[in-house]
Amino acid sequence: MNVSADPQSLLSERVQAIEPSGIRRMFELIASMEDPINLSIGQPHYEAPPLLAEAAQRAIRDGHNRYTVTQGVPELNALVLDRTEQLHGRRPETSLITAGVSGGLVLTFQSMLNPGDEILLPDPGFMMYRHLAAICGATVKYYSLYPDRSGERFRVDLEEVARLCTDRTKIVFVNSPSNPTGGVLSRDEIKGLSELANERGLYVVSDEIYDFFTYLDDYSSPVSYADRCIQLGGWSKTYAVPGWRLGWATGPAEVLDAMKTLQQFSFVCAPAPFQRALVEAMPELDMTPYRDEYIGKRNRLTEKLHPAYHLRAPDGSFYAFPELPLRNGATSADFLQAAIDRKLLVVLGNTFSQRDTHFRLSFAADDETLDRGVAVLNELAEHFA
Ligand code: PMP
Repeated sequence: MNVSADPQSLLSERVQAIEPSGIRRMFELIASMEDPINLSIGQPHYEAPPLLAEAAQRAIRDGHNRYTVTQGVPELNALVLDRTEQLHGRRPETSLITAGVSGGLVLTFQSMLNPGDEILLPDPGFMMYRHLAAICGATVKYYSLYPDRSGERFRVDLEEVARLCTDRTKIVFVNSPSNPTGGVLSRDEIKGLSELANERGLYVVSDEIYDFFTYLDDYSSPVSYADRCIQLGGWSKTYAVPGWRLGWATGPAEVLDAMKTLQQFSFVCAPAPFQRALVEAMPELDMTPYRDEYIGKRNRLTEKLHPAYHLRAPDGSFYAFPELPLRNGATSADFLQAAIDRKLLVVLGNTFSQRDTHFRLSFAADDETLDRGVAVLNELAEHFA
């Protein structure tokens, strides 16, 4: 819990332990700029596939506008469990349709973490994790994803993770493909983390929201190896519908039942017409061309970016996490200001990390924007390095 909580404040210590996201501040900045080169975005640049949008319109017209059961419509739950079984060779005991992966994260953390419990989070990692842990009064310990040498892949050091475990540890958290690094953990890493959790009786919580955006032949999930796994996923990114607020969770009934009860008294259910639209359209949708387009964008970025950034091509998601090319006492804030002066928006690594050595850029942008962004970044590399 935040030690600086003000005892005079009318606000709970819980909310005093968290602060607004740096990315939201970026949204405000964008709104005030003319023709920005926005590489800070966390959603696909394409529109929702027409087949899916039409299914949603039909669902509203056909009267799917009331509450659904808390767990979500049975056909959608079946699609989720079938998919996990097909991809990872194991059928989880049960599932739940959530209000986005964000909703799934809230329910998972609230269901599992007591004050003083410990959770191992990746550094860097999506900032929601640490704030939700703080709201529960849990203690966060970070395991590093940073490579040992510039330009190598983001990875996990299993010995470090083992060293961080104590008898208060409850959850080892995994996010692959990663926001913000674009890294995908290898099968050995996923297996190693899962086995470590099994030996110590821990839960693995796996945020797989970017699982569609993997550019390798082999993608693995802790679902295949962990005795106790909460798997979270969603449709915001794959189908470009983050405004629909739909996600899913799978795992053992022991935890999922508690999450369902919490959902009854919070979100109630995920949006009904959009659940129905997914049931109708998902079996018909082929998103492979969208993924191929993103491989092209990834290559476009990596091939053109100045070597001072030491960027290795990301294996997943639509983010890259290059190094800040800073010399002679320049700071990350100087770099960000110089970028903003040139209308370029990126997110500093310190938003996601204990370190302040990298920055995140999103290649979910049209090619022209991407090229303009790379031109500014290459100019900044000359300027700072
Ligand atoms: N996890 C990660 C890693 C994310 O990047 C995001 C969205 N930026 C989310 C979860 C939440 O996604 P949603 O609630 O839209 O499903």
